[in-house]
Amino acid sequence: MSIAFRKELRDLKPYVPGKPIESVMKEFGIKNVIKLASNENPLGFSEKVKEILMKSLDNLALYPDGNATNLKEALSEKLDIDVDNILPSSGADEMIDLIAKTVISPGDEAITADITFPRYISTTKMMGGTPIVVPLKNFTFDLNGILNNITNRTKLIWICNPNNPTGTIVTEKELMDFFEKVPENILIVYDEAYREYVTRDDYPKNSIEFVKKYPNILVMRTFSKAYGLAGLRVAYAIGSKKIIENINKVRGPFNVNSLAQIAAIAALKDDEFLERIYNLNLEGKNYLYDQFKNMNLEFPPSEANHIYVNVGKDAQEVFVELQKRGVIIRPMGGTWIRVSVGTMEENRTFIEKLKEVL
Ligand code: PMP
Repeated sequence: MSIAFRKELRDLKPYVPGKPIESVMKEFGIKNVIKLASNENPLGFSEKVKEILMKSLDNLALYPDGNATNLKEALSEKLDIDVDNILPSSGADEMIDLIAKTVISPGDEAITADITFPRYISTTKMMGGTPIVVPLKNFTFDLNGILNNITNRTKLIWICNPNNPTGTIVTEKELMDFFEKVPENILIVYDEAYREYVTRDDYPKNSIEFVKKYPNILVMRTFSKAYGLAGLRVAYAIGSKKIIENINKVRGPFNVNSLAQIAAIAALKDDEFLERIYNLNLEGKNYLYDQFKNMNLEFPPSEANHIYVNVGKDAQEVFVELQKRGVIIRPMGGTWIRVSVGTMEENRTFIEKLKEVL
């Protein structure tokens, strides 16, 4: 007799994140490898965060503050919302799991887009729910298409803005119209992992206002991208007290580690670092756009720190060939890849190697 694993797991594959630099070095026996595969921060993270982390290494024998009190207070002050509306997590990845565990029962439906961040779909399936995927329209979330797919089984809607991998956005006005039309018993998760990179002013500047206006919206943000703290795993959600109270029942008692809590508080105080990465990212995107245009490659303009580009050749093949040349990117479906914007030197190396491969 063998172990009867949950039937929901049968169709699930493990999520394969961007390959680490060390693995590629070993596999291809090469020294210089750059990773533009996971939308990480090419500047690293704030020096101010580093300073405080170095001083905080003595306290690791104790469990973290399970309530993340200081982090919640720092966020509350910065965002002008009550601490009871905030819940930190070990990365937005964990929050996505916690949300699915909180609201999805077998048979429930959760609507999202195709193509978007894949964890929305896998966690929905994990809970026995059915993901309903609405194709993107012009590379962008189709909010009307989502409305048309609401049924009496719909429990959850996952929105990614800017969208990963396309980098496209839906505007504040489009979102407000959408929120008005979604029944209040459906939870809308609004994932803005890349908000700090957005340049367009029709993007919602302060999504906290959504939470104040609608009881069924949960905003999700992360310290992994613009703040450069992906390795520490820290993110948070902001929502009505009722939603937060329920997700809080599901999480592990010490889900956010001590260093992550300390680093996140310090990171919130360093706006200058955010400005530097914003400017570098913009410069990098403009350079990459010019290069892609010269190479006649199709791409939607991105409001994030990554670009979705049609390389006109099997993406898997391009992925392997680039790796051999020391560049890790993310192959998507067909002939599309996603590349993260790096330092200018990394961007130039990527283009040089891409030209060799195409
Ligand atoms: N949401 C989106 C849209 C993402 O792109 C990512 C990271 N790739 C996450 C959530 C997860 O981020 P974290 O590192 O905070 O778990």
